[in-house]
Amino acid sequence: MAKACYAVSVHEPFAFYFSSYESYTMRTPSGIECKYFYGDYFRGRSVEECRLLKASGETWTPDLCKTCPVPGITRANACEFLRLHGTVTRPLNAAFRRRVQVTAFCEKTNLDVKEPHIGCGECHPLPPIFESH
Ligand code: SF4
Repeated sequence: MAKACYAVSVHEPFAFYFSSYESYTMRTPSGIECKYFYGDYFRGRSVEECRLLKASGETWTPDLCKTCPVPGITRANACEFLRLHGTVTRPLNAAFRRRVQVTAFCEKTNLDVKEPHIGCGECHPLPPIFESH
């Protein structure tokens, strides 16, 4: 788990510097770290949201995190140019239950990314199994 790293300056005793504040990753209700999950529990608040689905105008519910592919994708591929787009679908193979479906886009090549776990192949060559014959 990413931890907030902070230091207190001797000269500015009340100034806290959270060096990794921007990249702090929270755990979803399923216990998985996801950079798109946001929870605010400060002073009795109980705000939880998925900022990936919120950006798509989708309604998030905590059960979606259990089967969501996004944490696995972001663990496997940390490319700075990868942009994910999430929608909620009801696929047949999940017996029509709500599932997060992800599409990916590379901002460097302006191409759709078929295998978001791997990437588009521009910065990091794809394994031969993904090469077209
Ligand atoms: S639904 Fe997926 S992307 Fe959204 S917070 Fe849960 S695990 Fe993260």
